[in-house]
Amino acid sequence: MISRNDTLVMDQQDVLACLRDEFSLPAGIIYLDGNSLGAQPKAAASRAAAIIEQEWGTDLIRSWNQAGWFDLAVTLGDSLAPLIGAGAGEVVVTDNTSVNLFKALAAALQIQAAQKNTANRRVIVTERSNFPTDIYIAQGLTRWLDKGYSLCLVDTPDELQAAITDDTAVLMLTHVNYRTGQLLDMQALTRHAHDQGALVIWDLCHSAGAVPIDLAMAGADFAVGCTYKYLNGGPGSPAFIWVAPEHQLQFSHPLSGWWGHAAPFNMDPTFKPAPSIRCALSGTQPIVSQALIQCGLDVFGKTTMQALRVKSLALTDLFIQLVETRCGHHPVTLVTPRDHAQRGSQVSFEHPHAYAIIHSLIEQGVIGDYREPSIMRFGFTPLYTRFVDVWDAVECLVDTLNQKKYNVNQSRNSVT
Ligand SMILES: *Cc1c(COP(=O)(O)O)cnc(C)c1O
Repeated sequence: MISRNDTLVMDQQDVLACLRDEFSLPAGIIYLDGNSLGAQPKAAASRAAAIIEQEWGTDLIRSWNQAGWFDLAVTLGDSLAPLIGAGAGEVVVTDNTSVNLFKALAAALQIQAAQKNTANRRVIVTERSNFPTDIYIAQGLTRWLDKGYSLCLVDTPDELQAAITDDTAVLMLTHVNYRTGQLLDMQALTRHAHDQGALVIWDLCHSAGAVPIDLAMAGADFAVGCTYKYLNGGPGSPAFIWVAPEHQLQFSHPLSGWWGHAAPFNMDPTFKPAPSIRCALSGTQPIVSQALIQCGLDVFGKTTMQALRVKSLALTDLFIQLVETRCGHHPVTLVTPRDHAQRGSQVSFEHPHAYAIIHSLIEQGVIGDYREPSIMRFGFTPLYTRFVDVWDAVECLVDTLNQKKYNVNQSRNSVT
């Protein structure tokens, strides 16, 4: 049985331990919700002040050119690209994941419709347990297109391969499931979909900055994802969209605003798409929020996703082991895969009173979150989570369960 002291030794031997100092974390809090809102990089506060006081306050409109504001969506995309196995000029940071998914899906359907051998394909395959906004966006787009497109919702990942047929236009999947933390095999699913003639869109919201990703090696077509979770970009920081180089010139989406034009300041009355990844942009970027994303990306520059993955798996293994050995007499059930190859960087346990327990843990300074129907979700961010945090979080959970320190009639907050 592992003791608290053992976890202190693990922290001493952890080569990534020094990265915690890059973050501003409140004393007395164990933060296990970086999968929902990443912690604040210390550099963000001074960067925000510089943007507001100097770049906006003093330099005013000149900053669009001088401070790199106009190119920020692309320069950030280039910084982020290595984390997802993409190249320079293939990613922009803009809008939110929902909007970027809309653009990617519309473009993918259009590419399929324009090819003789795929023109009749009308089905988008995804998982019923996908993050709801992904499903809603697909429903919204297909309803609006009104051309007989439909969604095929698959109940388990095992059924995905068989669901991809010669009717499938697009396979649209989230790499790591937000609820269970299950990691899908990007390479195998992409290859299978391509073999059936379908295009593939990956949503990387719970995997970018959490697990190593190689979009190029997988041969994927499009990807989207947010920057405010594991990438620590800040609340509501803009998302990203990746377009594989072979699709860039055919990438056409209905939100063709002036920022996606080849020469926005020509003020041409006809839209002509930029012959670059800028074609994925629509309108003016939220510079203050967008610029802070670099502070989070800079921290990733001090390590590698491979090193982070080793620690992430050690943290999640430890958490699973401690919860199962110490809380085994309570009705807690692991829903996250034990198999490393199928696990993201979070661990979810089911308990009939999950919401009340999470609420109590948060009040005691251990911050995880709750997801329907009865899931306690804990995110592990190897940049700043310590092994002793895992031990202390489990200690708090054990005490909360043993002492029944929760109110089963707990009323729900609007964000759970
Ligand atoms: C967090 C998350 C989103 C968020 O979408 P926004 O439009 O940025 O709010 C989308 N998809 C998945 C899979 C997510 O986990």
